[in-house]
Amino acid sequence: MEIQVLGVGNAFTSRYYNTSFLIRSEQLLLIDCPQALFRLLREIGVDPRLIDRVLVTHIHGDHTSGLETLLLWKKYVARSKLTICTGRRVWEEIKTRFFPSFSATFTPDLEDIQETALEDYADFCELEEDRENQLIDGLKVAFRYNWHPTPTLGLKLISPHGTVGISGDTCYRPALLKRLLERGTLNAGRYQKLAGDWLWKSDVIYHEVERGEAGAHTAEAELLALPADIRARIRLIHLADDFEESPLALARQGEILRFEDLRK
Ligand SMILES: [Zn+2]
Repeated sequence: MEIQVLGVGNAFTSRYYNTSFLIRSEQLLLIDCPQALFRLLREIGVDPRLIDRVLVTHIHGDHTSGLETLLLWKKYVARSKLTICTGRRVWEEIKTRFFPSFSATFTPDLEDIQETALEDYADFCELEEDRENQLIDGLKVAFRYNWHPTPTLGLKLISPHGTVGISGDTCYRPALLKRLLERGTLNAGRYQKLAGDWLWKSDVIYHEVERGEAGAHTAEAELLALPADIRARIRLIHLADDFEESPLALARQGEILRFEDLRK
């Protein structure tokens, strides 16, 4: 089983595809759906018919632009259905905020417009918090809800050979997270997953990053302050176009990791 980095860009990239991944095994599993998804799939030689499961971290456009395309194509061209794996709070956002922008369609005679339901396009595979959820054969996933303006998942992909962590969009800033705990915005369990070693125990960690201190994402300096053994397992992702060097490793678009090699 392999994980391929499909895109390493942030929301405003004009250089990369947006941050997204593909699990390649007997089954394919897409993690987020960047803009120009179909061009990307063509470039890596993957037939979209073979993708029937998608894990969605959150509904921001750089992660779901391609999901609209994929849902419409599945229903109206391939005549099949997608399975969307995500947490219940993200599913509710997909249903109530994302899907309504394209839920209307013509009647077959084109004389009327009618509403469709998300369930006409996709089945919901619910990932539950605080447990390891079977994703595909040989791969489980655990998640946390990140600190981001919309419900957003941070992931741990767990195989018998090792674990790949994906931070998802989040603001890893220990001092801020501590204040949120003290204020009661975060409960102790969520705080532990966001500020403790929940993600850091992964064998490889794809972590989002941005330069500077003021933004909504994770400042590079916060990751540089982590212990050396964690820093060595981090690959930075969700990159601005001019983010080209760092003391930490950068994820490369197209790179493939074999789960069997994670601990080698
Ligand atoms: Zn986001």
